[in-house]
Amino acid sequence: MADSRRRIAVLGSTGSIGRQTLDVVRAFPDEFRIVALAAHGNVALLAEQAREFAPELIACTGDDPAIQRQLDDLLPDALRGIESLTTAATHPDADIVLAATSGLVGVLPTLAAIRAGKTIALANKETLVMAGHLVMPEARRAGVQILPVDSEHSALWQCLHGEHLPEVRRLIITATGGPLRTMPLEQMRDVTVEQALAHPVWRMGPKVTIDSATLMNKGLEVIEAHWLFDMPYEQISVVVHPQAIIHSMVEFVDDSIKMQAGLPSMHLPIQDALSYPRRLNRAGTALARPLNWPEVARLDFEAIDLDRFPCLRLAFEAGARGGTAPAALAGADESAVALFVRGELKLTEIAETLETVLQRHEYKAEPTLDDVLETSRWAQEEVLRLRGLPASGRITKANA
Ligand code: NDP
Ligand code: MG
Repeated sequence: MADSRRRIAVLGSTGSIGRQTLDVVRAFPDEFRIVALAAHGNVALLAEQAREFAPELIACTGDDPAIQRQLDDLLPDALRGIESLTTAATHPDADIVLAATSGLVGVLPTLAAIRAGKTIALANKETLVMAGHLVMPEARRAGVQILPVDSEHSALWQCLHGEHLPEVRRLIITATGGPLRTMPLEQMRDVTVEQALAHPVWRMGPKVTIDSATLMNKGLEVIEAHWLFDMPYEQISVVVHPQAIIHSMVEFVDDSIKMQAGLPSMHLPIQDALSYPRRLNRAGTALARPLNWPEVARLDFEAIDLDRFPCLRLAFEAGARGGTAPAALAGADESAVALFVRGELKLTEIAETLETVLQRHEYKAEPTLDDVLETSRWAQEEVLRLRGLPASGRITKANA
């Protein structure tokens, strides 16, 4: 009998989202099959995943000698080099590409996958933040769907099903507030890496976790929502909701509000993107996590204090300015977060650095792909130059 399972290429399979994607595939072996796995430096885990899922293609982009030696030993058939990510994203057998690399590397392979007609399950935020003005029209031209994996966007997308966009008054994105939600401004300067990494609800990769502490993550999500749902920034707002049970909401012109709820776990938005337009029954699988309202007991909502979280304000401003501004913001944030993780920048200096880089950057209103890539590269390096560090040692991974 023909194999009717959906065939998936996972970019960033060794990361937090990538591993949870494989959990979903493991829970629904009759629905999904892995055709390509791509990662960067975690060769041991990639090899383990390759053994379990037997993909047709394995790609590993890490180029340092230790990684190459490990590949020679464990995965001699793996494709190597940064282009291998695009090869994985355009694998002829893939129906869906789950784009879950961290940082800025996701843009090119995602665009290539769109051009190759693949459905995109998009976790990587930077892709739309930097290049939403190119990615969304390209997807429309190719007739390709971009299905959100980020939990807030998955919620918005579910709330918008069957609705008419002109009847939407605003999108309301929820934020847990991260580990520093209640911390007074004067203490924020001395926040340690450990404090910033101790997210109260979500277990994620280091870059997105630090971004959650500064609320830059929410800022990137606002820009992502603008592109995904074609919504002006004046119609996007953010509210703090510490329990992370309501994943976001849509308010309509009749004052009605739809919300999507569930226990916080990335498995659900990943599953929903992979199975769309169907919903798969999780009862009896390892992923089953029904919500019991009496156990949740209460839901709190608070306004955001933009004085304590200036990164969110910067993201709204950069988003509304458009052009190369979001690429400058995303590039600068990539380096600033990496420097913070290395102990070379204070937490409150992240926003200050981003603001300086945004002011200095050479703005273009209608940037090409090369322009946004160049802007983000310049912004990454500018952060290093501002700190008196050599710009050639560009940081591309927050956990480098
Ligand atoms: P992680 O840091 O946990 O994982 C990143 C993954 O990307 C790893 O598999 C890593 O490989 C791979 N990777 C990094 N650089 C490259 C490269 N140059 N080439 C190929 N692969 C690369 O990140 P997360 O899983 O947390 O996040 C992934 C994306 O999803 C981010 O954009 C994030 O903002 C977004 N996101 C994450 C959420 C979460 O809950 N984690 C929620 C919503 C969105 P290796 O480990 O082998 O080096
Ligand atoms: Mg999110």
